[in-house]
Amino acid sequence: MDCIFCKIANKEIPSQVVFENKNILAFKDLNPQAPVHILVIPKNHIPSINEINSKNSSIVAEIFQAINQIVEQENIKESGYRVISNCGEDGCQSVQHLHFHILGGKKLSETLS
Ligand code: IMP
Repeated sequence: MDCIFCKIANKEIPSQVVFENKNILAFKDLNPQAPVHILVIPKNHIPSINEINSKNSSIVAEIFQAINQIVEQENIKESGYRVISNCGEDGCQSVQHLHFHILGGKKLSETLS
């Protein structure tokens, strides 16, 4: 499958890894939108939130536990941060592999759209 995040998860493409366990990889975004901009992905391919179901949803809880560790590691836990997952065309999802953006390290804009 020609998926760039699968290739990153399989270490076929290099990335700046900040967290890894058996099921999850987190790495720095190539085009950061904030001083801290990290992407958290399941290693297994799930295209988007739309494909989360009763069989695979436990990975979402695992991802949010990882996020809790990552924000502590990146020193943004106390100051605050934002977690975003873009979905589909109107959501401006550009990579079709489920991912959660962690944005922080500055006061973020109040608007979400
Ligand atoms: P989306 O627009 O929500 O799908 O987010 C995709 C993100 O992946 C964007 O913020 C890109 O900058 C980022 N991105 C794309 N390719 C790479 C890469 O090879 N390494 C790290 N980040 C990437």
